[in-house]
Amino acid sequence: MSCLMVERCGAVTFKRSEQNAIQVCMLADYRLSTGHAGVLLAERRGSYPLIDLRILKSGTQQGEVESGTRRKVKRLLSFQRYCNNSRLLRGLVPHTPGSLHFLDDDYLGQAAHMLSKVGTWNFDIFLFDRLTNGNSLVTLMCHLFNVYGLIHHFQLDMVKLHRFLGMVQEDYHSQNPYHNAVHAADVTQAMYCYLREPKLAEQLSPLDVFLGLMAAAAHDVDHPGVSQPFLIKTRHHLASLYQNTSVLESHHWRSTVGMLRESGLLSHLPADMSQDMEQQLGSLILATDISRQNEFLITFRDHLENQDLDLQLASHRHFMLQIALKCADICNPCRVWELSRQWSERVCEEFYRQGDLERKFELEISPLCNQQADSVPAIQIGFISYIVEPLFEEWLRFTEPSLLSQTMMTHLHKNKARWSLLQYTHASDQQTHSQAEEPGPEGRGREGEEIP
Ligand SMILES: [Zn+2]
Repeated sequence: MSCLMVERCGAVTFKRSEQNAIQVCMLADYRLSTGHAGVLLAERRGSYPLIDLRILKSGTQQGEVESGTRRKVKRLLSFQRYCNNSRLLRGLVPHTPGSLHFLDDDYLGQAAHMLSKVGTWNFDIFLFDRLTNGNSLVTLMCHLFNVYGLIHHFQLDMVKLHRFLGMVQEDYHSQNPYHNAVHAADVTQAMYCYLREPKLAEQLSPLDVFLGLMAAAAHDVDHPGVSQPFLIKTRHHLASLYQNTSVLESHHWRSTVGMLRESGLLSHLPADMSQDMEQQLGSLILATDISRQNEFLITFRDHLENQDLDLQLASHRHFMLQIALKCADICNPCRVWELSRQWSERVCEEFYRQGDLERKFELEISPLCNQQADSVPAIQIGFISYIVEPLFEEWLRFTEPSLLSQTMMTHLHKNKARWSLLQYTHASDQQTHSQAEEPGPEGRGREGEEIP
């Protein structure tokens, strides 16, 4: 299966013969997996993040592991073919921009109506995704590019733009409960709201806006649904490729660069300009690495304390784009409860799936991934307290006076209080449950008191 271990960007530097071998292998693999011998997905991409099964211990005998387990692990982690299959089954031909033709006019009308309010904070991205038949990211990006006049400004080819956005959307894994194309669309919508903040909007150039939206749309592309520590301990090829540092973020960026080059979206621009855009996209996407949170928070605080942010400077605007993208990426707890709760449950579901996989293969279960020990409310309270609140407090300071920031902080505090209540209820339920399982009168009295 080594032929499937292809980094999109790496393909650019491959020798021709290696490329051909890979394409033949990928095509054969696709045909085997679908039975659609006549459907050619020569552009099929994806990292195929395979686990090295040799290091995954199993309680069962080696022989039993080979067939069933290997297949199951591959099914869990080799997503792209299933993603493409599911889209085919739903009547969507991959990379065909005209897939909206399948939609009823009523749905398109409602989607268009929603787009007229795309700058509002209670925008329901789940509903929008349903109304666009799973094309929320492409539809949203095309709309925002039109709003800002980016197509005209950068003289973009519409066919190439659709092709690029279609590839990005396709390369998100629809099987991931959280890191899927709807999350990307949600982050893009939030980014749009932040780009409109008066403190920022007045200073941003068309290039800043273009990069901000592109980075938001592609920031998690081809996410495998497992964390970096998981990739490292299973000796995933991406971990060694990126030397165990910002593994996922580097992959998201390099995949994006590969898609930009494959689509030719920027091919009409001078080489130094398109290279600079690729580098800036990398700097933005790499900033979403949550392990670098403190580094960015400290710099942001220092700027605010010293009041030395000069948005006339391209470097300072770039820094603020990094901060805006980081905020957009973790803004779920700042949304209205009904939307926020859905994201919280989805991200925990993704954590638990990783935990189940780790348990199954007798690997150490990663923090927050143990469904028996880590409840959704507890995970959310920790996430809000240590990650979200500190960043949004500084964002509030930067954007002041901002109605949006105040609204977000109100939601954040309400949601945290709600999770605290749910945690209390959860803890009470657990206690009642454990008491019910404890020995009867001969061992313990009421409320856990020892009987002398
Ligand atoms: Zn993200």
